[in-house]
Amino acid sequence: MKQRFKLLRFWAAVITAKCAIVILRLFKSGGTSLPGKLALKLYPQILDHLAGLFRVTMITGTNGKTTTSRIVLSMMEQKGLKVITNKSGANLSSGITTTLISALTLGGRPRFSHALLETDEAAFRTLAPRLKPETVIVTNFFRDQLDRYGELHTTVNNVREGISRIPDAVLILNADDSLCASLGRNAPNKVIYFGMGEGIYPESGASINSDAAFCIQCKSRYEYSSVTFGHLGHFRCPSCGYERPHTHVECSGILFYDSLGSHVEISGPDLRISVKLALPGLYNIYNALAGASFGLALGLDEKAIAAALSGFECGFGRMETIAIQDKELKMILVKNPTGFNQVLRYLLTQEKPFVLAFAINDRLADGTDISWLWDVDFEVLALMAERVRNFYVSGIRAEDMAVRLKYAGISTDRIRMEKDYRQLITRALQETGAGETCCILPTYTAMLDIRRILKKQFGLKEFWK
Ligand SMILES: [Zn+2]
Repeated sequence: MKQRFKLLRFWAAVITAKCAIVILRLFKSGGTSLPGKLALKLYPQILDHLAGLFRVTMITGTNGKTTTSRIVLSMMEQKGLKVITNKSGANLSSGITTTLISALTLGGRPRFSHALLETDEAAFRTLAPRLKPETVIVTNFFRDQLDRYGELHTTVNNVREGISRIPDAVLILNADDSLCASLGRNAPNKVIYFGMGEGIYPESGASINSDAAFCIQCKSRYEYSSVTFGHLGHFRCPSCGYERPHTHVECSGILFYDSLGSHVEISGPDLRISVKLALPGLYNIYNALAGASFGLALGLDEKAIAAALSGFECGFGRMETIAIQDKELKMILVKNPTGFNQVLRYLLTQEKPFVLAFAINDRLADGTDISWLWDVDFEVLALMAERVRNFYVSGIRAEDMAVRLKYAGISTDRIRMEKDYRQLITRALQETGAGETCCILPTYTAMLDIRRILKKQFGLKEFWK
């Protein structure tokens, strides 16, 4: 009787959420949390029930969740699996509930065998034991400038607690991140570590200024024999001996690297491939390594892993670079949250200071609903705020963009509004130092307008790069 009542509640919750999904779609709202919220209200245990219907993989961490999940998805596709994934903004319990319900038939049967779920790192602790994933990928932990000192460790410990309740899950962890790698220490789980080989991308004299600079065990300052980015590298604690674990999947060589992508060698005891990644930034090499690790865990052969990695198209818009005297102007098209996030990740890899301008329009070709800006992870800008000379906002929706930046933690006195593109280019270039870059990120129609002006002003031909 109790079981039947439970099933009835499950079905009622599923139907209610499905109706909400349909209604929201009718109103062209991208709302992903409301249907799940309703379902959770009607049947609080629904997530446990739903999770039992799919083979679950969870991806969490501060940066790279979305890209990693797209790479992992292409690994799963190589295997021919039927996978449901959540949108990057829908990574809390309500959004995940909505996603899983949308993968059911009206009768409550799953239409997919696997679920690939990007999960907010703060929500991981409670979600992991409910979703009972077979595999968990943790990309990295970075401190948000908005976080108070110590909050980073709280986040790591939350994830650790979640992991402690899923001892059967395979963990895929970033070995170069002392915080992330520590999750595998003393855990009964099977762990696959990935990382950059020693000195593959040496960043000389990098000073690590975050709470990640100190040993998670004993608080001594780590020693690094090689640093790739931020606090990522070959670390070792001189006091207690905690050190970067040996990797199973490692980037053993970067044959080529530029602003559009790289050609890398990936190797390990069970893997040796050489692939071109159409993904810019060091960050994305880490994401590719996480993806390759997942491919191994899935039982894919080298060929299939290489195919999944090299066939991976980045959502990165077209990039144009022009030299103006001793400065560089880069224009990168932004059109959706995924692509925008990748552009921001790419900017994160810039070492020199730069000026950053956003030109956001809401014409038909841009998409008239600009609420997608809230799905873009502008919060990462805090990580590079020191390197950005100033933030410009332009385009028809400049005001909305300014608000979004403000909510991402950028102080308003650093945000300049300039709606006239000619003025925007002049002012932004003026603030750009010699040898530095001025980056303009326009939506489609803004890009067309700006390009027209650049053509006129600097006598340029088409300059796709
Ligand atoms: Zn230590």
